[in-house]
Amino acid sequence: MPGTWIEQCIPLLCKEGNFRQNKFLPGKQTTTNLLRKVLIANRGEIAIRIAYTLREMGIETMAVFTEADEHVLHARVAGEAHAITSYLDIAEIIRASKAAGADAIHPGYGFLSENAALSAACEEAGIVFIGPTPDTIRRMGDKLESKRVMEAAGVPVVPTWNGTPPDSEYPVLVKAVGGGGGKGMRLVERAADLSNAMASASREAAAAFNDDRVFVEKYIRQPRHIEFQILGDSHGNYLHVFERECSIQRRHQKIIEETPSPAVTPELRSKMGAAALAAARAVKYRGAGTVEFILDPSGSFYFLEMNTRLQVEHPVTEMTTGLDLVREQVRIASGEKLSYSQSELRQTGHSMECRIYAEVPEEDFRPSTGTIEVYEPPVGPGIRLDSGVARGSSVSYHFDPMLAKLVVWAPSRAAAIERMQRALDDFVLLGVRTNIEFLRRVISTDDFASGTLDTGFLDRHRELFVVPEGVPIEAILAASLESPIGTSRQDFQDAWTSGASGRWRNS
Ligand code: ADP
Ligand code: ADP
Ligand code: MG
Repeated sequence: MPGTWIEQCIPLLCKEGNFRQNKFLPGKQTTTNLLRKVLIANRGEIAIRIAYTLREMGIETMAVFTEADEHVLHARVAGEAHAITSYLDIAEIIRASKAAGADAIHPGYGFLSENAALSAACEEAGIVFIGPTPDTIRRMGDKLESKRVMEAAGVPVVPTWNGTPPDSEYPVLVKAVGGGGGKGMRLVERAADLSNAMASASREAAAAFNDDRVFVEKYIRQPRHIEFQILGDSHGNYLHVFERECSIQRRHQKIIEETPSPAVTPELRSKMGAAALAAARAVKYRGAGTVEFILDPSGSFYFLEMNTRLQVEHPVTEMTTGLDLVREQVRIASGEKLSYSQSELRQTGHSMECRIYAEVPEEDFRPSTGTIEVYEPPVGPGIRLDSGVARGSSVSYHFDPMLAKLVVWAPSRAAAIERMQRALDDFVLLGVRTNIEFLRRVISTDDFASGTLDTGFLDRHRELFVVPEGVPIEAILAASLESPIGTSRQDFQDAWTSGASGRWRNS
């Protein structure tokens, strides 16, 4: 039977009315003015991370899980778990909240987190939505509308066309109006290629976002992705919680993030921070959000988009400020005022996050599936692991292939890199292929060490995609586990034991 012991137990526990009361994790008494019970409408690492904070706050937690989802690990940390048919079914999630007496819903990221209809359905049902108003989500989810709002608020935006740009403006980027996750984008070098690119982007957008509208944006060369964390309460107070540099990307998706950015001087920080605050104010932002900018090599920056949710990479902000952003979200949703002023916020040291994916970077980042046979993540000073898996978890094509986020804190950037190198070296994960070795190579380059980053980093460093000689035993074992025909469990055990006792991590 696949899965960890808890995964095996859950179907049994849930048989009666699909409902489980977790006896060994009683909730603490709640503070009267805060929420009493929260349904976490998500899965994996983020559902677990949210549950931890809620438990610390003495708030009861309720997880949801689908049948297709074999990683029911997130149900383990919640007080209750409820079976649903889809993480995207708003009516079902509202029903589950009401049935369980939950007074709020936390949407995490992805799934329904940027869906205005969920925020609206919560309002209608008298359930607190831990996120912004439907109106903010709707306006910021539309990349054209959000730029109009930001331009009017005096925030610099990337030059944008709703039709054909002048020939002198190429290269340009075709983007989906409702886009996200790096999907539906096309780089166009010559005017002659524009209409084809728009047509194919439009088809992809229709399938991915149910909205076929596309537009054209000036393509910024060698940019950095710099984003600002913002917080807004329902009393008109706004904060920015500094920047995150997210320039190491594959397919326009971030894989390594850090704060502070090696490119952001105190002057630039206060300029970009002021723009992020103006953006928050322009939409009377309530909750935690992110204002994404692109920074060109000359130091000019432009608004890209606003993400109206908790960001994947939020831990690096937490590590350097001491804030718990989920706690802040809950406090704001409960109607409380922000408890800090801008001048009270400080950043200490440096934090970096590596996204651990089940994928093969050397084969065009193709996703890898299978069962996690060995899972020994690093521990030690300054290390935080936000993980959605454990030994026995199966990794399928159903969901995003991100398994965990490895986060480090250290007093300086150089020390954070050393710590991340050590942590990646010690990360043992067998059963599926991962990007761990690849991440190790990326952060060990001279360019990374000197902070010479831009979003084209991986395209320029093709040498990173060549597996060095002396293929690590993990890769061989993982490959053999992927096609288990002829590989018995005993074969694996033997290989593992002899490898582990020998020089199995020598590269
Ligand atoms: P972040 O913007 O938080 O740094 P990503 O851009 O990688 O991180 O997106 C976060 C998660 O949300 C990923 O799992 C991604 O696949 C998913 N996602 C982002 N935008 C959308 C969207 N519009 N529709 C569906 N999934 C999305
Ligand atoms: P998504 O909603 O998919 O996250 P974004 O607009 O935030 O889309 O862009 C994702 C990434 O694509 C950015 O982080 C950046 O690497 C790249 N990108 C977006 N717009 C531009 C641009 N105008 N010029 C160059 N790169 C861009
Ligand atoms: Mg983005």
